[in-house]
Amino acid sequence: TMHAPSSTLQAYLERLLRRFADLDGGRVATYIPELAKADPRRFAIVLATVDGQLYEVGDARLPFTLQSISKPLVYGAALQDRGPERVARAIGVEPSGDAFNSISLEPGSGRPRNPMINAGAIAAAALLQGDDGEARLARLLDALSAYAGRPLEIDAAVFESERTTGHRNRAIGHMLRNYGIVSDDPEPALELYFKQCSVRVDCRDLALMAATLANGGVHPQTGVRAVAAEHIGPILSVMTTCGMYDFSGEWVYRVGLPAKSGVGGGIMAVLPGQLGIGVYSPALDERGNSVRGVAVCEALSRDLGLHFLQPP
Ligand code: GLU
Repeated sequence: TMHAPSSTLQAYLERLLRRFADLDGGRVATYIPELAKADPRRFAIVLATVDGQLYEVGDARLPFTLQSISKPLVYGAALQDRGPERVARAIGVEPSGDAFNSISLEPGSGRPRNPMINAGAIAAAALLQGDDGEARLARLLDALSAYAGRPLEIDAAVFESERTTGHRNRAIGHMLRNYGIVSDDPEPALELYFKQCSVRVDCRDLALMAATLANGGVHPQTGVRAVAAEHIGPILSVMTTCGMYDFSGEWVYRVGLPAKSGVGGGIMAVLPGQLGIGVYSPALDERGNSVRGVAVCEALSRDLGLHFLQPP
């Protein structure tokens, strides 16, 4: 639990931003030119409480793409659209310990090990409800927008590059088709996956998305429900065990908050019942997590006593 008066909290976040602004390790993602253009000096931290208070410091309104942070939210939409049993037939919940883009399917069933690796995320995108591609895209954007509390859009240039360079993801899509996890041509699901990765957000959106998860699925400012309360436990569980790529065990140990990072440089972390955290800084470590983002979350957890398994 968190104890700190709000003026103190704002001042604390400003100190935290200054302290970690000098942390210069890591590199911005370069697998597509649009991400390589990111300025590694950009930095933002935002906290959003379940009663709708926002504390923002740094470049909190600078746009970047959601990338893998979309994965737990689209998994939630699949749970909502198809129910837990149908989703469990397609996607496991076991951490893989492999890289996010590994072609890591369970031997035999061909089921992706979890929804936070690309294979599981593509399988989740394939489960979204809708009569055609347009309807499924609307479903995707409505779901993500409800978490942000504002209409989100796709960055067309990022999407175009993801689509033209996404051969590894396309290979994963065809493996899923081979095992019958995806029943038809995998291309529409891949298209949707590339689109969810290319959704443009800012750090404030990340904090509010996290706060919506912390608040049982209801956006703390708009009051709109983004996902049914019964899916929050499942979503936060896979974030806890698999959310930070192959750093997830270390992350739980050090930070102790369900979280998800993306190669755009964002991290969202959730303290259930209390608050959401968004951090943006595009320089990534070898595993694909924001270097400053990890450092900030560790400091926040320690300083404010947020580790969910550590009694105050
Ligand atoms: N578009 C990226 C991919 O699928 C997303 C990676 C990520 O954020 O982990 O390769």
